[in-house]
Amino acid sequence: MPRELLPSELENFPSLDWSDIVPRLTPAVRCSLEKTLETQNGATLSLDESFALADSEGDDLLGLLTASNLLRAELAGNLVTYVVNRNINFTNICFVGCKFCAFSRGPRESDTYFLTPDQVAKKAVEAWQLGATEVCIQGGLPHGLPPFYYRDILRAVKNVTPRMHIHAFSPMEIVYGVELTGMPVGDYLSMLRDNGLNTLPGTAAEVLDDEVRAVLSRNKLSTAQWVEVIRTAHRCGIRSTSTMMYGHTETPAHWVRQMLLLREIQQETGGFTEFVPLGFVHQNTLLFHQGLARSGPTLAEHLKVHALSRLLLAGSINNTFKCRG
Ligand code: SF4
Repeated sequence: MPRELLPSELENFPSLDWSDIVPRLTPAVRCSLEKTLETQNGATLSLDESFALADSEGDDLLGLLTASNLLRAELAGNLVTYVVNRNINFTNICFVGCKFCAFSRGPRESDTYFLTPDQVAKKAVEAWQLGATEVCIQGGLPHGLPPFYYRDILRAVKNVTPRMHIHAFSPMEIVYGVELTGMPVGDYLSMLRDNGLNTLPGTAAEVLDDEVRAVLSRNKLSTAQWVEVIRTAHRCGIRSTSTMMYGHTETPAHWVRQMLLLREIQQETGGFTEFVPLGFVHQNTLLFHQGLARSGPTLAEHLKVHALSRLLLAGSINNTFKCRG
């Protein structure tokens, strides 16, 4: 049985010395970590080795955290960068009904709102005046949305803040826009690009496994649709982030499979700018209150997901794939 780690051991892992932890590792985990550190490439890990790292506990988990931190320092250094960004959610009305969502409202609820493209543009101007260089624009999916509403938001924002980077519309919104306009997905994305879309949030991914997705949100786009939108966006010259929501119903094997899928797409397109791990926030969600999910990630899970992604995604094309978090 691996020994149970104290919270302070997890919190203080960056002060551990790699040479001190190596003798305490099980041979298989030691071999996997040394190999990845030497090659600086997650592709050298087999699926079974990756699963074993995702299941690591005790000293093996400390080894995973320490090795991934070393690799991060070697590949990315200690320089942390950021952009000043404003999130603009144009509506909270949504028919999709994701069980993990505490944001959306039905159309008749008292606290709904809906912004016109001009109102979104006004918020972009406020952001620009306060020093923001990027807006992230997403929202709920209301029935009866004007078919070219997403395009019109882009036009309105670019009209008043031409140099603002627009990071907007999840793959779910792209699928909805395609449905509303009847356009092929490539044509639809190209139209958004030509009207000012700079990058796409890789949200709506949650866990890219259709069995898990059926529990989280029956009406959401499938794994195949998410991948199709992302691949098409990258081919159209629209780069995107990538995300994973963890700490609910999924297992460590899902983390591994998702990271490997993202890695595969990255090797094909080079279009991901970063990986954003999102811990499930359980309060006020049906998913938790119906007893379908645990109450969000533990500290060990937060650290493990970040560490695992640093290892499995290392060596992706051009070293452009960074981990946000
Ligand atoms: S699609 Fe988005 S806004 Fe709508 S319920 Fe799902 S997570 Fe919430």
